[in-house]
Amino acid sequence: MSTDEDLTPGCPPGFLVLSSPDGVVRAFACDRCGRPFALDLNMEYIGTCCRCRDCGADVGRLSLGLRCTACERAASAVRIAAQAEAEKHLPFVDGHTGPVFTDRASPSWFADVDEAAEAVWDQCHDPDTFVMANVIAHPCTVSKASTPDLLDLVQTGWDEQFTDGFEDGPPAELERRLIALQKDLEAAAPTIWHPDTSTRVLLPDYPTKDDER
Ligand SMILES: [Zn+2]
Ligand SMILES: [Zn+2]
Repeated sequence: MSTDEDLTPGCPPGFLVLSSPDGVVRAFACDRCGRPFALDLNMEYIGTCCRCRDCGADVGRLSLGLRCTACERAASAVRIAAQAEAEKHLPFVDGHTGPVFTDRASPSWFADVDEAAEAVWDQCHDPDTFVMANVIAHPCTVSKASTPDLLDLVQTGWDEQFTDGFEDGPPAELERRLIALQKDLEAAAPTIWHPDTSTRVLLPDYPTKDDER
């Protein structure tokens, strides 16, 4: 083994050159965690063992491409800033009357823009500098939760287990009632709100001028 890594092409700083007795270079090993990287075998992973991928700081054995705490914090701040900048430029949807999602207030889901505006205002930290128009809120589409297929449940469940199950379907009257019940269930199914994060809605100012008087 030699440590003259500066003279060996491809050996990054902080890695030791491992050679066989005949002098042939076989691998580079990390001088911190000792993990060897065989030439032409797993060289693409070199440097991802125990080092921060950004600054090279020691982050412990087997970090495998993670960042140190400081770099992760910095990368996350950059990510959040880029996301916030991108959100500012989302197109506005006019006339949205349904539910709204915004992470500027808890619990984030609101029946409409007015409810969202009230909650965001109530939870804002600095009313003096707060600007409602800067709040990113997304319109939500509404759909129904799927309803189990009653006929299928009954027929499949019983037909598989019992010889006198509904092999050819339940008797006509029972089938009619199951279908009717199915329709009632579908009508009563819970709603699911999906935020459209590719657009935003403008929240109205709150409190309104009328409230302030
Ligand atoms: Zn290492
Ligand atoms: Zn780092």
